Amino acid sequence: MKQAGSNDDGWVDLHIHSTASDGTLSPEQILKMALDLNLRAISITDHDTINGTIEAHHHLTPQDVELLSGIEISTSLQGNTLHILGYLIDLKDPALSRTLSILQNARKERNPKIIQKLQQLGIEVSYEEVVKVSGGGEVGRPHIAEVLLQKKVVRSLNEAFQKYLGTNGPAYVDKYRLQPAEAISLIADAGGVPVLAHPFIIKTNSERDLDKIVSELVSNGLKGIEVYYSEHTDIQTVLYEQIAQKHDLLITGGSDFHGARKAGVYMGVGKGNLRIPYRLVEALKEYKVTKLPREPI
Ligand SMILES: [Zn+2]
Ligand SMILES: [Zn+2]
Repeated sequence: MKQAGSNDDGWVDLHIHSTASDGTLSPEQILKMALDLNLRAISITDHDTINGTIEAHHHLTPQDVELLSGIEISTSLQGNTLHILGYLIDLKDPALSRTLSILQNARKERNPKIIQKLQQLGIEVSYEEVVKVSGGGEVGRPHIAEVLLQKKVVRSLNEAFQKYLGTNGPAYVDKYRLQPAEAISLIADAGGVPVLAHPFIIKTNSERDLDKIVSELVSNGLKGIEVYYSEHTDIQTVLYEQIAQKHDLLITGGSDFHGARKAGVYMGVGKGNLRIPYRLVEALKEYKVTKLPREPI
């Protein structure tokens, strides 16, 4: 994995999931782990919810690492799933809360439909079992996959998605998602910095196609791109650095740590050699202070 260069100011992880979405550690446990790992700053970026980031702010003590408010919004672009991260958002923004509750309701309505499809396929699984493994946060497909694994219906979480829950699986149920442009303005209007998450998941035929998509997102108000990421190869990292430079985008990085739910991906270091320097956080904060009208959180 290509690293972001040498660094004396400390390391950060700007892509972490808590029990508020599909991570296995609570926001408080995440703060403690970040402190133990000697990270300088983190961001909890749960799927379509800011509850984890709010809870972490609530528990934050002066000894803790620096915490950037964060979110990861699922959007859809021509059938492709595209995730938009938001940093330094105003957690009290009413429009953001309103839209997130719509998305959460859509998710809630979707889960029983997936369970029903699984039951129709002859698999004995109940909604209560899925809620139980979710740890009290938002319930989603990863939790359903976990129940299928526990019940030995599948041998891995991956298999659960491939065989049943993935886009082409027999238990797949489509859900309401925002368009990338909507997610970008939602974040920007909440005083945050909208960033394209892990661009490697975007299925394109060429670098030119990817560049086209990024150009469009930039015209919608995108301000950053997640260049340093657990799954990015050296070649991809270099490509995304070039794209960032070309479009004058801020660069971010994170592990996408999910605790035990994503085996082999660790906080701060991803698959082992991911290193994200603090200067990226400084750039985000500077952007927020100089380019956005609101006060930083
Ligand atoms: Zn994502
Ligand atoms: Zn994520």
